[in-house]
Amino acid sequence: MRRVVKISIGETVPAQADALFLQGIPRHRKPPQNAVSLFGEAAKIFRECAQPAGIFADISKSEFVDVYRGESLNEKRTPVAEIFRKADGLALFAVTVGQAVHDRINEFFEGKELALGSMLDSVASAGAEMAADAVEKHYFALLLKEHKVAESAAVLRYSPGYCGWHVSGQKKLFEFLRPAEIGITLLDSFLMTPLKSISGVLLVGEKEIHIIEDNYPFCSQCETHSCQHRIETFLQEIKSGDDQKTRSLLEKKDIEE
Ligand code: SF4
Repeated sequence: MRRVVKISIGETVPAQADALFLQGIPRHRKPPQNAVSLFGEAAKIFRECAQPAGIFADISKSEFVDVYRGESLNEKRTPVAEIFRKADGLALFAVTVGQAVHDRINEFFEGKELALGSMLDSVASAGAEMAADAVEKHYFALLLKEHKVAESAAVLRYSPGYCGWHVSGQKKLFEFLRPAEIGITLLDSFLMTPLKSISGVLLVGEKEIHIIEDNYPFCSQCETHSCQHRIETFLQEIKSGDDQKTRSLLEKKDIEE
């Protein structure tokens, strides 16, 4: 199954706190008024010019082995390599918020409106993540509808260039997915155009398959440790649920800690 996903602009306008976080303002801190005003202006421009689009394509585990191997430059031990074989569903995906946003960012930088350009850049980055969230939800809903996964499952995404998956992995990913259909192409540098695009793999399975430690050799260079935030979200869901299987998982995690 290969599918283009319609994503509305409303689904990609980030919350103020998410955009300001990318500007270095912690979520718990009251933002300065000038940052709030700039965010308002940037979000308005984003609404006017964003052209979000997404695509995903199912991929079998045997096909993914070849795509993931890429140019044989991945780290030896990686989360994706350890998780994908346990997944109930795999799909390659790509999303973008469009070229027009990127052009407006460039215009502001060229016109020396650096603060607004930088804020629009943050809004667009957070917006691209929200577009990826939308595709993630769409794929998960489809698997649920087809009874291929349980409601207790979860979907997480990984991208070339992160978590030990070498950025050159984009080459085979693009060959398989062909996201040019929604306007995303790959440069020789493996950067995507439009720049505010995200590609990768969606891995769907029971929550326990996603639980990893941040102790891979490359994790010491990681600025976000976003895997641990995602796992924490799972654990909160598990705490508030009454599913015996997930409760056992939580107990196991407590024991390990
Ligand atoms: S700590 Fe960072 S690099 Fe390591 S697995 Fe988590 S997200 Fe990936």
